[in-house]
Amino acid sequence: MRFWIGIDDTDSSKGMCTTYLSVIIMEELEKARMKVEGFPRLIRLNPTIPYKTRGNGAVSFLVKGDLQEAYEITKNCMETYSMLEDEKTNPGAVFVEVNNKAMNYLHNFAVKAVKDVVSMDQALFIIGKFMIPHIKMKLGRGLIGALASVGLELYDYTLELLAYRKPERFGTERDYDKESFFRADSETYPLTWDTVDWHNDVVVAVPSSPDPVLYGIRGDSLEAIERASKIVITEEVDKRQFFITNQGTDMHIIDENEVNEVENYHSYRLRGTVVEKPYDIEGGHVFFTIETKFGRIKCAAFEPTKQFRDVIRKLEIGDLIDVYGSVKRETVNLEKINVLNLAEVYKMENPTCPVCGKKMESAGRGQGYRCRKCKTKAEDKIKVKVERSIEEGFYEVPPCARRHLSKPLVRMDVEKKHVFR
Ligand code: ATP
Repeated sequence: MRFWIGIDDTDSSKGMCTTYLSVIIMEELEKARMKVEGFPRLIRLNPTIPYKTRGNGAVSFLVKGDLQEAYEITKNCMETYSMLEDEKTNPGAVFVEVNNKAMNYLHNFAVKAVKDVVSMDQALFIIGKFMIPHIKMKLGRGLIGALASVGLELYDYTLELLAYRKPERFGTERDYDKESFFRADSETYPLTWDTVDWHNDVVVAVPSSPDPVLYGIRGDSLEAIERASKIVITEEVDKRQFFITNQGTDMHIIDENEVNEVENYHSYRLRGTVVEKPYDIEGGHVFFTIETKFGRIKCAAFEPTKQFRDVIRKLEIGDLIDVYGSVKRETVNLEKINVLNLAEVYKMENPTCPVCGKKMESAGRGQGYRCRKCKTKAEDKIKVKVERSIEEGFYEVPPCARRHLSKPLVRMDVEKKHVFR
């Protein structure tokens, strides 16, 4: 029998990781002579969901074997490893036979879980209607992610190799050679991406949370990821697993043409004209407002987006842009922008002397301007076109600020792009 196992919400901010638990389950299934077919799938869901621990990821994998036995093995592993003491951890797992009619419904359910907010009732309805064997621990909210990870069709996908630490090292500082990650990036980019952030001098591939992950290398090529993993120098790797993912695909982005309103907890591409110039607030966050077909919408480039804020600060009233990002508190948290048309910007300056070409100076209040040397005069200031210090095209946040689902420009087939690397 062939069936999908989907699993989610087993970890907490204090430890564990659903991907790690999945690797343990897959090992146990194989010990019981079952076969895991292909790569497991790491599916990132709506990044704005408040219940998430970190990256709102769920995992699924295809198994050939005995469903009842797989159910028992999964349940044992979940009971042993899930962070049940954490209030926010509500594990769920589903077992969906490949020819269960539920598969026809699960893709739409999954797309909704990536772009929208899904209720437990909707998950339980599908489970009930199609009699899906499942494991529900505590509130069982993980059933939502578990079903979605099984159902999502990956019309675009990327790969991630996750390397895990020795259990005795969990919670301690990760030991790795920073320079080796930069070398791995130099030698495999752009087939791998977001391993490091050159500008901000950060190794992005190594997390700082107390979970079992040592590093994750992302990319579009299995071979390049393998090559990168051979270059990096780290403490001993305990387990390693490739995942096929929807990371770096922009699958969370809802196009403005698909909807009639903009809502919190959703992510969009919105077109708008800048109507309020960017301004900084305390903490280094930059805000501005655009006029869209839905009305005025505030946009934000927060401090962690680093040099991306310098681009945003260069926007002027009248610029036509597309913004990409999640809406929270009625504000778009920018992931990238596309500058479509730069407004012509003018400033008023003292006139220049027609004889010597130097700037004239004020001749006194209400008395116009004069060149002291040449004795020339002029009545009014002149309007001068300002040379813009930004050009049209795409701009993105740097790798250290990238959302899992955001499509990096290096993956985008667009003409004018300004890649922050
Ligand atoms: P990690 O990435 O470290 O595994 P996490 O960030 O994935 O952790 P979870 O612990 O899985 O966080 O918590 C997310 C919870 O939100 C899960 O219970 C999941 O089922 C639920 N969830 C995910 N997407 C949606 C959605 N679109 N609507 C409602 N609930 C969702």
